[in-house]
Amino acid sequence: MASSLGRVGDGRDVSDRFWGEAHGRVNLIGEHTDYNEGFVLPIPIPQSCLVELTRRDGRTVSVSSDMDGREHLAAFEIGAEVKEGGWSDYIQGVTFALAKEGFSLSGFEARVRSSVPIGAGLSSSAALEVALLLALDRTFDLALDPVRIAQLAQRAETDFVGAPVGIMDQISASLGRLGEALFLDTRTLEHRPVRLPDELELVVIDSGIPHAHATGEYRTRRMECDRSAELLGVRKLRDVTESDRRRISALPPPLDRRASHVVTENQRVLEAVAALESADLSRFGALLDASHRSLSEDFDVSTPVMDRLVDLSRACTGVLGARMTGGGFGGSIVVATKRGTAADVAREILSAGSKMGGGAMPTIVVPADLG
Ligand code: ADP
Ligand code: MG
Repeated sequence: MASSLGRVGDGRDVSDRFWGEAHGRVNLIGEHTDYNEGFVLPIPIPQSCLVELTRRDGRTVSVSSDMDGREHLAAFEIGAEVKEGGWSDYIQGVTFALAKEGFSLSGFEARVRSSVPIGAGLSSSAALEVALLLALDRTFDLALDPVRIAQLAQRAETDFVGAPVGIMDQISASLGRLGEALFLDTRTLEHRPVRLPDELELVVIDSGIPHAHATGEYRTRRMECDRSAELLGVRKLRDVTESDRRRISALPPPLDRRASHVVTENQRVLEAVAALESADLSRFGALLDASHRSLSEDFDVSTPVMDRLVDLSRACTGVLGARMTGGGFGGSIVVATKRGTAADVAREILSAGSKMGGGAMPTIVVPADLG
């Protein structure tokens, strides 16, 4: 399971301590489609976030998190959450979102430990929110189901942190299962697992250049998509297809290219699911390549470094296709390879990528035993 829940310890002093765990994810295909109510195909990565929680009397919350090799501390009062612009916003956002939905909590003490790379487009934020919600659910008997947990986690991030994210990351952290991709319709939240063909392996490389979701271009892209939908007379770009090509091309630039990315990307997700289910590896690889081209040329969310990392990957023996993954402007790439070649491909990308400059400090995320 990508998310799990449990009770640790038998002794009296630890009998009230609960924990929640949720994994990061790599999005195989379907980028910038979730806030357009389209399709996505994330898969959990082995790295996860673990939150251990003990209930307290009163309203004080104290949280510690091990990040960058040291312990960070934060404290706030339930019912008096105030945005601070730091990592504690993700914790406060969760208690804020629960309060908005009528759940009442007392204070608590929490310890966070996460192996998900931060700001790498692999969803460390959703792993944290979902792991915390799982621990809170158990501690306070909230009876939350996995979809509700994802929705609360998304709300924490959009309404409190102020990052206008779609629901993909939180659904993956809450519902994803290790070893299986999750095909999700972000409009209806219908979802189903997609098994990867045995002959396929994945490589994920963190470029070392962190992205920033809460600000800037991500927000601009969202607004451009909403404006495109408005001009096309639909609720969301999900409602537009290739048959509307002429009307898409008539949008004022750059909206024509933005809409074109979303429409073609939604179609690529459907085709990628079909390719995986029929074990058509070369088709799957070609779809990753096309997705990258569209993100780079039409959606303008790649960077020269990310483009070069993707090019480097494609030159490696055994590679079927590659693309940037996550919101863009840094973050990670995902590479599909033939079985038996992933470890060599990962080492080759790392070796070439580390000489690339431009701020790149690539590290291997998957295969995790090489990372
Ligand atoms: P990502 O792609 O990793 O989700 P985001 O910008 O969405 O990137 O979220 C990263 C932010 O989430 C961090 O800057 C930090 O505020 C918070 N975060 C993630 N993991 C942790 C952690 N283990 N402990 C504390 N805060 C965390
Ligand atoms: Mg995030």
